[in-house]
Amino acid sequence: MEEYKRLANIIFPDITLTVEDYEKKYPARNLKDGAIVTRYAPSPTGFIHIGALLASFTGSIFAKQSEGVFYLRIEDTDTKRTIDDGINTIINGLKEFDVTFDEGPTDENNESGNYGPYIQSQRGDIYKAFIKHLIMEGKAYPCFCSEEEMAELREYQTKKKMRIGYYGKSAKCRYLAPEEAIERIENGEKYVIRLKSPGNFENKIRFNDIIRGQIEMPENDIDIVIMKGDGLPTYHFAHLVDDHLMRTTHVIRGDEWLPSLPLHVQLFEMFGFEPPKYCHISPLMKNDNGGVRKLSKRKDPECAMSYYHELGVPKEAVMLYLATVTNSNFEEWYLQNKDKEIEDFKFTFDKMNNSGALFDLDKLTNLSKTFISSLKAEELYDRCAKYYEEYDKDFYNLFTKDKKYSIDMLNIERETPKPRKDLGCYGDVKKEFWYMYDELFNSAELNYEFKNITDKEEINKILDLYMEKYYDPKDDNSVWFGKMKELCDELGYASDMKAYKKNPEAFKGNVADVSMVIRVALTSKSMTPDLHEIMAILGVERIKERFSKLK
Ligand code: GLU
Repeated sequence: MEEYKRLANIIFPDITLTVEDYEKKYPARNLKDGAIVTRYAPSPTGFIHIGALLASFTGSIFAKQSEGVFYLRIEDTDTKRTIDDGINTIINGLKEFDVTFDEGPTDENNESGNYGPYIQSQRGDIYKAFIKHLIMEGKAYPCFCSEEEMAELREYQTKKKMRIGYYGKSAKCRYLAPEEAIERIENGEKYVIRLKSPGNFENKIRFNDIIRGQIEMPENDIDIVIMKGDGLPTYHFAHLVDDHLMRTTHVIRGDEWLPSLPLHVQLFEMFGFEPPKYCHISPLMKNDNGGVRKLSKRKDPECAMSYYHELGVPKEAVMLYLATVTNSNFEEWYLQNKDKEIEDFKFTFDKMNNSGALFDLDKLTNLSKTFISSLKAEELYDRCAKYYEEYDKDFYNLFTKDKKYSIDMLNIERETPKPRKDLGCYGDVKKEFWYMYDELFNSAELNYEFKNITDKEEINKILDLYMEKYYDPKDDNSVWFGKMKELCDELGYASDMKAYKKNPEAFKGNVADVSMVIRVALTSKSMTPDLHEIMAILGVERIKERFSKLK
């Protein structure tokens, strides 16, 4: 053991704090029983995508609902992949969807919480103390193999059809005597530090993943690199140190890390620490070419959060959808509790999908329609104004020119017990209601969608008589409709649908055909929200003007 100690001191002469010192510095957290301490641990490599939002939402909701702690840890030990402003991108990107942290970096330079630093590149000495400890115990060693030697080993193993990796007899530096290692270090040779794995690949170990259930895998026997040539730890080792010292109870992360589980559990055992509970989240999947594949950051635009921003999908709708992905029974609950917050639903691990949910944009859109339909018109107006100001200045100007007019328009069929659900995003307001704005209606190449009545003379006859004799803006819906029927009677159309169905030949058409003429004349569309409300908002002058356009 003395020679291991010497080796450790030669490698880390300046590391004086020990594992025990750090154990004391970061004591067990004082939380109530069952409180979940979990983290979101991204590498600062780019924009927030929907899978990242799902993982961070899942962590935050379980921590919050158990009165635990949700913290942010930045995993930037792979300096080649780190981008400028990556930390702010993560924090702001998540905040936009109301995912916030109890502890962790608050921007590139500041952080909050007693278990930091929360940025791995600032934790170098802590990792070194843990690595030093392993070396002193003969559980880790310096490896001097060059890239060429590693390539040769790979080639040899491939040729011999062996498992690829630095393990067993192939792990040649594992067998170097400490004295020899010291000599080579003193001679200035380059090295990394590897774990001396006590595992045997022939043995099977069993774990209980909170989401996946019982899993059996071979033990890890690979002597992985735990400290790279640049003095920084690898992800696996940093995960052990951080999740232990930050007193993490649950590791909630993407299932791409599932194969690393034997190694991670082994690392905890080598230190005699209790491993956290592991919860591996299945990725979002997508139908593609008859098969199913993971939603991809590179190939699928709907993976990027900017996609929803640009369409004007409310952030709440995205979160409602992710809540549904997290617990499939959420949606049913939400539809009965639209006035409640997502957090009011009790999420459980056992309702989590363990095979990979198909990403369903239609479902997201439907949730969005339901959400938008539940907003007050004033609130929707403000959100739309903000959206159009950013994405469509011309429409923004029309939309905000007469605030009351736009709010009345958004209010059409909103207050009914079953509000209309035709807006899936703020961008749909222009698509659905453009004809309400004269500037758009008058400048568009109109495609009038007349149905059963198409004869121009007949159309004008209907419109003229209606305007002269029957339309009165003061009429409520039922009087208004009564007059529409009178118009029908006068012109030879059936005002009563039953009578029409019995004997269609006796009439020129029916009341639906006549009101369709008025609808299309005013909007050019055959499908619109409530015509009586539209007319009330357009007002007499506009109605007359639009009717005369058809002359
Ligand atoms: N930095 C890892 C990643 O970005 C985190 C994995 C984990 O949560 O343990 O995937």
